[in-house]
Amino acid sequence: RKGNVIITGASSGLGLATAKALAETGKWNVIMACRNFLKAEKAAKSIGIPKEHCTIMHLDLASLESVRQFADNFRRSGMPLDVLVCNAAVYLPTAKEPTYTAEGFELSVGTNHLGHFLLARLLLDDLKQSDYPSKRLIIVGSITGNTNTLAGNVPPKANLGDLRGLVGGLNGIDTSPMIDGGEFDGAKAYKDSKVCNMLTMQEFHRRYNEETGITFASLYPGCIATTGLFREHIPLFRLLFPPFQKYITKGYVSEEEAGSRLAQVVSDPSLTKSGVYWSWNKNSASFENQLSKEASDAEKARKLWEISEKLVGLA
Ligand code: NDP
Repeated sequence: RKGNVIITGASSGLGLATAKALAETGKWNVIMACRNFLKAEKAAKSIGIPKEHCTIMHLDLASLESVRQFADNFRRSGMPLDVLVCNAAVYLPTAKEPTYTAEGFELSVGTNHLGHFLLARLLLDDLKQSDYPSKRLIIVGSITGNTNTLAGNVPPKANLGDLRGLVGGLNGIDTSPMIDGGEFDGAKAYKDSKVCNMLTMQEFHRRYNEETGITFASLYPGCIATTGLFREHIPLFRLLFPPFQKYITKGYVSEEEAGSRLAQVVSDPSLTKSGVYWSWNKNSASFENQLSKEASDAEKARKLWEISEKLVGLA
């Protein structure tokens, strides 16, 4: 049978390119889990994703109610779940003030981490039940959360501190909207959320890989300087960022190439190792990359897991 893969945030950028790469093979039914149904439908059509290989379902990661509803709706569809890709993200580098999810969590960490954390936990049972030969749960990471790299050292750097803001619920009322309890900084909140994504993947691996045989993985697909992720940035940045990445840092990768990289992590028979953070070198060969000290801190991953469980209502 065809494999069923859910991709969150498949209405643009990396998610859309990955949906296309997988649907085109004819071996996958891609469930595009998107907050804007019409936008997703138009995007799928304009990029040429064959209709018979894709299903669009509503999911707003900035609402835990919507995440639960999505999991119910997916179950009711009767489709088995073989691979889940947590890809969606918001990035608010120019925001002066924090904004919040439906439950009152700061929006970047609330969407990118907490929404995906609940989704992945709810769908873990579905993955377990699938009879697909290679089941996977993939959480898209980023170099920007890794302070062992040049890009990860551009201030403001990711730093979860002692997680005191997260413990308080990131609500900006009686606690800071930032995980480390500091002043709001949109760029840092995004990087922190990516560290959470990479820690979560490893904690899933430690807790469930042996028991379930599911492969848990993360990746840095390269710098896709043209995606909507940078839509909130100042116009001059948006103009100069793609050529800067292309000619100076040489980290630039097209949406199509990045999509084919993520599609590999979904379906390549040689990429079944669990607990791995994949990256690609200049010749586009994949390799197991090293995470920063913080992004591979097992004690922090365990704490993050337990606090997140409480915040999303699982504990
Ligand atoms: P895009 O902005 O193009 O795509 C982000 C997607 O997330 C969009 O489909 C967006 O939906 C969706 N989304 C945002 N908020 C929500 C929400 N509340 N509920 C559901 N979906 C939501 O960015 P990219 O394609 O660049 O980013 C995809 C992933 O790649 C992210 O995890 C990002 O961190 C990662 N990444 C990107 C890099 C880059 O250079 N671009 C580098 C490294 C990692 P909508 O279309 O409705 O806005």
